[in-house]
Amino acid sequence: MRQLAMVMDLNKCLGCQTCTAACKTQWTNRAGREYMYWNNVETQPGSGYPKGYMNYEAGWDGKGNLKKGEIPPIPEDYGIPWEYNYKELMDGSAKTLRPDSENTWSANWDEDVGDGEYPNSYFFYLPRICNHCTKPACLAACPNKAIRKREEDGIVLVDLKLCKGAMECIKACPYKKVYFNLDIGQTEKCIFCFPRIEKGLPPACAKQCVGRIRHVGYLDDEEGHVYKLVKKWKVAIPLRPDFGTLPNVYYVPPLSPPKFNEKGEVTDEPRIPMEFLKRLFGKEVENALATLKSEMGKKEKGEKSELMDTLIAYKHGEMFRI
Ligand code: SF4
Ligand code: SF4
Repeated sequence: MRQLAMVMDLNKCLGCQTCTAACKTQWTNRAGREYMYWNNVETQPGSGYPKGYMNYEAGWDGKGNLKKGEIPPIPEDYGIPWEYNYKELMDGSAKTLRPDSENTWSANWDEDVGDGEYPNSYFFYLPRICNHCTKPACLAACPNKAIRKREEDGIVLVDLKLCKGAMECIKACPYKKVYFNLDIGQTEKCIFCFPRIEKGLPPACAKQCVGRIRHVGYLDDEEGHVYKLVKKWKVAIPLRPDFGTLPNVYYVPPLSPPKFNEKGEVTDEPRIPMEFLKRLFGKEVENALATLKSEMGKKEKGEKSELMDTLIAYKHGEMFRI
């Protein structure tokens, strides 16, 4: 009946992983969940978490057919949790900050790598949670009807009383935001902190966000930031809309510094290729960036901009209307 949504402003994300830690300590620091990050912050361009998740053919095909997809190798492509050599790190004898380990991949293995040649190299951070989609592929794929979407707020949940560990949801989710708990043999995922929502509190990742990038509210609440950013100003757009699941996490796309030419002069060309942004956020990204630039221009001239004031988020509490 109603849909809660989150808007994340990628121009303000610091990549500090406070959100990741907030989620980890609240929900996934226990048996079988060690490798899971219901909230992760990946570097783009990059492989993401799990590795190459966007390359699995999953979601909806545009004609109403579910694409079943594949399961990424668990836990290898997510990263096998390891113990650090704390003692050596503390006494100064450690040769590397990386632990002695056979591991060749983990979440954020390619953090801050990005793409492009110096001085035109670029990257940005992409925080991700379950999108609590309007057309959840995970729900459609479950043969045991264990996944449901709550009427009151659209939060998508796995019912562990019904889940038999078929893993079809993991195959079908194109964002790979359902995880298999190796200890209990069932799937688990981001719950949008529904016990907090029911007390009028925002999800822990949003409340703890150091960069104040996360706005939370109902899509039909015309006074809320979420409505204004998604529906009124249309600067917040979903990740990979072509996957067809109608995500309810929206992103304000990253503005780009200009490229330098061979003489070291600043050009008009943006450093992040528009084709790359279109692949991630669809063609609407061009209009969203144009609106952002235009409203930024107003602020620079000392004029008023409701959009910029909303994104700046002078008062943290105003970012949440639950
Ligand atoms: S992001 Fe994936 S797990 Fe979350 S609701 Fe959408 S399809 Fe389901
Ligand atoms: S806490 Fe906020 S600023 Fe820090 S990584 Fe997470 S989303 Fe980005």
